[in-house]
Amino acid sequence: MGFAHLPDSPVAPSSATEEACDAVSVPGHDSYLAAIMNAALDGIITIDERGTVLSMNPAAAKLFGFPPSEVIGQNVRMLMPEPDRSRHDSYISEYLRTGTPKIIGIGRQVEGMRKDSSIFTMELGVSVVATEGKRVFVGLIHDLSRSRQFERRLHELQTNRLDLMENMAAGLAHELKQPLSAIAAYINFAHRQLKQKDFSVEKVEELLDNASAQVFRASEIMDNLRQFIARGDTVRSLQNLNAVIRTACEFTDALAKEHDVKTTVNLEASPDQVIINKVQIQQVVVNLKRNAIEAMRDVDRREMTVSTRLVEGDKIQTDVADTGPGLPHSIRDRLFEQFTTTKPHGLGVGLSISRSIIEAHKGKIWAEPNPRGGTIFSFVLPLAKP
Ligand code: ADP
Repeated sequence: MGFAHLPDSPVAPSSATEEACDAVSVPGHDSYLAAIMNAALDGIITIDERGTVLSMNPAAAKLFGFPPSEVIGQNVRMLMPEPDRSRHDSYISEYLRTGTPKIIGIGRQVEGMRKDSSIFTMELGVSVVATEGKRVFVGLIHDLSRSRQFERRLHELQTNRLDLMENMAAGLAHELKQPLSAIAAYINFAHRQLKQKDFSVEKVEELLDNASAQVFRASEIMDNLRQFIARGDTVRSLQNLNAVIRTACEFTDALAKEHDVKTTVNLEASPDQVIINKVQIQQVVVNLKRNAIEAMRDVDRREMTVSTRLVEGDKIQTDVADTGPGLPHSIRDRLFEQFTTTKPHGLGVGLSISRSIIEAHKGKIWAEPNPRGGTIFSFVLPLAKP
């Protein structure tokens, strides 16, 4: 901030600015001026040729957090951070000596310092007024900290979105793995069927249908990602959560069978209408189920229960319980963070993506020990308003 001039200004004064730096007499009418000063939304501070503050309007007092009585009579440099604070006197004397404006009539972004020493950015315009043979500098101060905050928030949002996209890209590799391995498994089964002497055409057809359903699912996952990248969000619609989960359960049936996991599905919550992106919520259920199946790989009792129930009156909770070894101690606190894995070929993104998805749906996801041994992963979603 500098009322007189800033030393590094590259701006050559135009004729308009030359005019502005000539002291202009204003026919002063005290009460008229006072009304303008008091009502102005921007800060107005006047100083004399020595930099002493002559007046400060209420907006300026609010902006700097000082009552005018603590500023009037003091050098205006108290309202500036370094380096302007030490240099301001010389800015004024330089202007008075040369008549060359660096800020007067030009306006620029400078920093101000509040009473609590916090620094903010402001747009400062200065004009010179001749009154009673003396020159008075009038500073008009427009607070830019709000628009700066807005810019920062916008930047943060863009960065978050990039993070999320990175997360989604890492997740894509993960999410596509499931339908692709299911497709491979179905084709493999079909192949084996065909090798049998009295193979069943219906059985082969069924397996191929299952494989093409997974191809469709993979393409839905890709579509979702494309939509997200193009529009920043994904399409949501009113769905019956129990039906959505039942379909997701079917996706992992083959894997569960392959690993000898007994699955109980208990989808009884009613009502169960939610506004969701169906594919994303299915992704979460598939992630949780696949983790549960993998966790039970080395235990004898392999039981998985998927259930829904109403909680807190207006929410629906989904639980995926397993009888595996429980959560590894080493990662309990960062289970839902990206790249957390204890699996030799794990990507460690399934749970972090699941959390992003559930939180984007205004829900919550967590894990706790299963009283029957193992782990229960749960998520809640708000029910659609009737
Ligand atoms: P990944 O499966 O690629 O490792 P996830 O984010 O899905 O990534 O899971 C992170 C880690 O959380 C797993 O490596 C595993 O250690 C632990 N985990 C997830 N689900 C279970 C579960 N049901 N039982 C025990 N540990 C689990």
